[in-house]
Amino acid sequence: MKLRFYLQSFLLFLTILLFWGISVSQPFGSPQTTTPQSIIIGNNVTSITKPIISVTDRPEIYPLGTYLEFLEDPDKNLTITEISSPAFSQKFVPSKWQTPTFGFTTSTYWVKLPLVNDTNKSVEWVLFLEHQLIDHVELYLPDPQLPQVWTVKKTGLLYPFITRDILDRLPAFRIPIPAYSKQNIYLRLETTTSLIVNAFISNPMLFWKHRSNANFWIGISYGIIIFAILYNFFLLISLRDIGYLYYVIIALGITICFIVIDGVGMQYLWQKTAYWNKSALFLFPLLTVFIFLQWTADFLQTRQLLPRWHRCLQLYQIATIFLSLGFFYFPYRPIAILGSSFLLATTGFTTLLGIITYRRGYYLARYYLLSCLSLFVSSFLRQLALLGFIPGSLWIMESPRIGLIALMVFLSLALGDRINLFKAEKLQEQKLALQEKDELNADLKLIQEQLLKRERKLEYDAYHDILTGLPNRAWLMQRLQYLIQNQLSYGVLFTDLDQFKTINDTLGHPVGDRLLKYASLRLQSILNPQTNVARLGGDEFVFLLEDITSMEEATKLADLVQMQLQLPFKLGNYELFISASIGINLGNQDYQKPEEILRDADLAMYQAKRKGRGRYEIFDPLVRHSAMKRLDLERELRQAIHRQEFCLYYQPIVCLKTQQIRGVEALVRWQHPSGKIISPSQFILIAEETGLINSLGWWILEESCRQMKQWHQEFSDGSSLFINVNISPVQLKQQDLVKNIKLILHKTGLLGCYLKLEITESCFLENTDAQLEALNQLRELGINLCIDDFGTGYSSLNRLHTLPINTLKIDQSFVNRLTAGNNGDGNTEIIEMIVALAHSLDMNTVAEGIEFEFQAEKLAYLGCQFGQGYLFSRPLDKQSLTQLLKVTFQQPINIVTNG
Ligand code: C2E
Ligand code: MG
Ligand code: MG
Repeated sequence: MKLRFYLQSFLLFLTILLFWGISVSQPFGSPQTTTPQSIIIGNNVTSITKPIISVTDRPEIYPLGTYLEFLEDPDKNLTITEISSPAFSQKFVPSKWQTPTFGFTTSTYWVKLPLVNDTNKSVEWVLFLEHQLIDHVELYLPDPQLPQVWTVKKTGLLYPFITRDILDRLPAFRIPIPAYSKQNIYLRLETTTSLIVNAFISNPMLFWKHRSNANFWIGISYGIIIFAILYNFFLLISLRDIGYLYYVIIALGITICFIVIDGVGMQYLWQKTAYWNKSALFLFPLLTVFIFLQWTADFLQTRQLLPRWHRCLQLYQIATIFLSLGFFYFPYRPIAILGSSFLLATTGFTTLLGIITYRRGYYLARYYLLSCLSLFVSSFLRQLALLGFIPGSLWIMESPRIGLIALMVFLSLALGDRINLFKAEKLQEQKLALQEKDELNADLKLIQEQLLKRERKLEYDAYHDILTGLPNRAWLMQRLQYLIQNQLSYGVLFTDLDQFKTINDTLGHPVGDRLLKYASLRLQSILNPQTNVARLGGDEFVFLLEDITSMEEATKLADLVQMQLQLPFKLGNYELFISASIGINLGNQDYQKPEEILRDADLAMYQAKRKGRGRYEIFDPLVRHSAMKRLDLERELRQAIHRQEFCLYYQPIVCLKTQQIRGVEALVRWQHPSGKIISPSQFILIAEETGLINSLGWWILEESCRQMKQWHQEFSDGSSLFINVNISPVQLKQQDLVKNIKLILHKTGLLGCYLKLEITESCFLENTDAQLEALNQLRELGINLCIDDFGTGYSSLNRLHTLPINTLKIDQSFVNRLTAGNNGDGNTEIIEMIVALAHSLDMNTVAEGIEFEFQAEKLAYLGCQFGQGYLFSRPLDKQSLTQLLKVTFQQPINIVTNG
C-alpha cells in the first residue's frame, strides 16, 4: 500500500516534470530550411512548385498550417516594417506541421502568409484561427498601392468583441485579395498559454457556415451544462445530498472555464482585468478540481474503503490549493504549465481511483470511472496538442469540452446511481422494517390468539371437569342459579355410582378414571336438548332437566341411566358391572339456592343407597327432616367427644349354673347436656359412619380396662372377673388395632385374659387375612374374643373353626322367643344347635337378653354357660355396679337390683 502511494506521488511528479520540460524547450521554434509555400488563387500557375490550393475550383476551408512561415520575437520589439523587410524575410521558418505549435511560450511570434491571386477577380476571404487561447492577434495587410503601408486589424482573447474585425469568439479577419496580386500578409501572435496556430482560410460563406456549425455544437454543450446544473440543483434541493452540492459547484466551475475559453468572460464579466481572465483559465479548473476531489472522496467513500488512497487524494487537494495560490504569487507561465500538467495528472489519478474501487466491487464507481476516463483521455490529447506532440486540430482542442460534458453527464448518472442505491437500500430497509413489523404483528396476533385460547380454556376449565369433559359443579351451580332466578321449571337427578369406591381401591385409580370416562360417555349419549349432565366430583353426576313438566320425565331418565350403566364396561382385561343410586328432586319455589336442591337430591340418593342401591328415589321432605336430625346428632356427637359427655354402664354376666357374676359388659352411654341418657343404638352407627368411633372406641376400651383393674384391686374375690368390651367393625379394620390394645393393657395394668372383645357377627362376613392375623395376635395376648349377636349375621358356619373365637353370644332375639313350659320349639333347637356348635369348637356360650327366670333355667338346661339380662341386672353405672359387687362377693346374687 505504501509503495503504491509513493508510486502515485512519483507519477504525479514525473508527469509535471515531463510537461514542464517539454513546454519550456519549445521544440518548434527552431529555424528550418524548407522553401515556403504560397497560397495561390487560380489554377494556371506553373511557377510555383509547392502545392497550390485552388479556391475557385474547390470551395473548401483550407488549413494553412504548412503554408505558414514563423519568426520568433522573444523581446517583443520588432515592428512590421522590420519584419517585412528583405533582411527578415530569410529569418522566417516554414512550418512542417499542419498545426504549428510553440507550447507555453512568452515570445511574440510573427507569421507570414504569402498570397497570390493570378486571376482577374478580386476576392475577399476570411482568415481565422481555431484556437481560443491566443491573447493578442494582429493582422497586417499591405496596402496594394502604397508599399510599406499596413492596415492593422486586432483581435484575441483580450479584445472585446466589438473591436474585432469579425464578430467572432475566435480570431478571424477579412482579407481582401485584389486581382493579379502577390502579397505577404503578417500575423503577430502573443499568448501566455500554449501557442497553437491552427489557421484556416476560406471564403466568407464557408466560414460562416463552419462557424454556425461549431456554434451549434457549443450551444448544445452549454445547453447540456445548464440542464445538468439545473437538474442537479433541483435534486440537491429535494434530496439534500452533499454530492449534488459538490456537483453543482463543479458544474459551475466548468462553466466558468468554458466562459473564459470562449471569450465570454472577457466580453462581459471581467472586461478590464485581462490578468484575471488568464488566471481564471487555471484558477477555476484548479478550484473545480479541488471540489471534484472532495466529491470523489465522498462518492467513493475513500476514507472508509481506501484509507491510504484517501490520504493521497487529500495531498492532491492540498496541491490544488497551493497551485491556486501560486497564481497570485508566482509568474503566470510556470504556474500555468504546472497547473495544466497537474490537472492532467489529477484526472489520471482519479481514473486510477475509479478503476481500483470498481475492481473492488463498488459498482457505483462505474459512471465515475467513465467520467474520469473521458476527461483524462480528452485532457491528455489536448495537453499533447498544447505541447505540440500532436496537431492541435479543432477536435483535439475542443476535446476537453467534450470530455467535461461527458464528465458532467456521467457524474450526474453516478449520483443517480447512488441515489437509486440509497433508494433501494431505503426500500430494502422499509421492506425489512415492514417485514419486521409484520412478523411482530404476527407474533402479537399469535400471542393474542394464545391468550384468547388460554382464556377460553380457563373459562372452559372453570366450568368443565378435566377428566370427563363434562360440565362441572361451578357450571351446574350457575345454571341452577339462573333457573331459580328466572323461576323456570327444572329437576335434578343426583346420581352416584355404586361400588365405584371398591373398584377404585381394588383395581387402582387409572381403571377408576377410565371407568368414569366411559360412564360419562354413556351418560352423555342419553341426553336430549333439555338435559345436561354435570360431574360434581368423584363418582357423582347430576342430570339437570330443564323445562320439565312431570316427574315422569325424571324417572324415565333415571331408568335410562340405570340401563346404560348396567351394561358391562370392558376396560382392558376387566369386565366391570356397576349400577347407580339416583336421587330425584324437582325444583320448586321453596328452593332459593342451588345448594338446597342439590342437598335434597343427595339425600334422596342416600335413601336409594340405603334401600339397596341400583335404584332411584324421589326426594321426600320427611327424609330431609330425619337427615337434618341426623346431621344435628352428628354435630352434637362431635362436640360430645370433645366435651367428654360419655360414660360407661356395666351389665353383669353371670354363670347360669351358680348364678355368680363372672364378668361385666361395658356399654357406653351419652349423657346429653339436656340431662337425657342416650342409648348407644342411637349414636354408635353414626359414630361408625363418621369415623368418630375410633377415638370414642379407644376411650371406652381404656376406661373399661381401668375400671376392671380397679375392681380387681377392690375385690379380692372378684379378681377373676372379666370385662366384655364391644369393638366396632371400624375399629377392627384399623391397622394399629393390636398395638393400641397392647398399649391400653399396658397403661391400665389389666391382664389380657380378663379382657373379652365383643365383635358383631357381621364383621366376619368380610374378614380378610390381615384381620384374621390381628385376631390371632390378640389371642396371643391372652385376650378373649366373642362373637356378639350370634345367629343373626348369617356367618358361615364352616369357617367358624378357623376363627380364634372363645365365646359365642347368643343373640337376645333367640332368648326372647323362648317360651315358658317344656314345649320344644324351633327356638330351643337353634339355641341347642349354637351350644352344640360352641362345644364342638371348644367355645363357651353366653345368652343375652335374659329377662325371665324360665329363660335362664332353659338356657342352663340347654348347656349355655353364661347369661346376661335384666333378670340378673340392668346395665349399671360405675357406682351401682361397685355396690352390687360388694354385695355379690359376700353372698350369691339372686336379686334383681333395679327393674
Ligand atoms: P349388645 O352388645 O348386644 O348389648 C346388649 C344390649 O342388650 C344392650 O343394649 C343391653 O342394655 C341390652 N340388654 C341387656 N339385657 C337385656 C334384657 O334383658 N332385655 C333387653 N331388651 N335388652 C337387654 P344397649 O346398651 O342399648 O346396647 C346396644 C348395642 O350397642 C350393643 O348391643 C352394642 O352392639 C352396642 N354398644 C353398646 N355399648 C357399646 C360400646 O361401648 N362399644 C360399641 N362398639 N358398641 C356398643
Ligand atoms: Mg355386646
Ligand atoms: Mg348383643
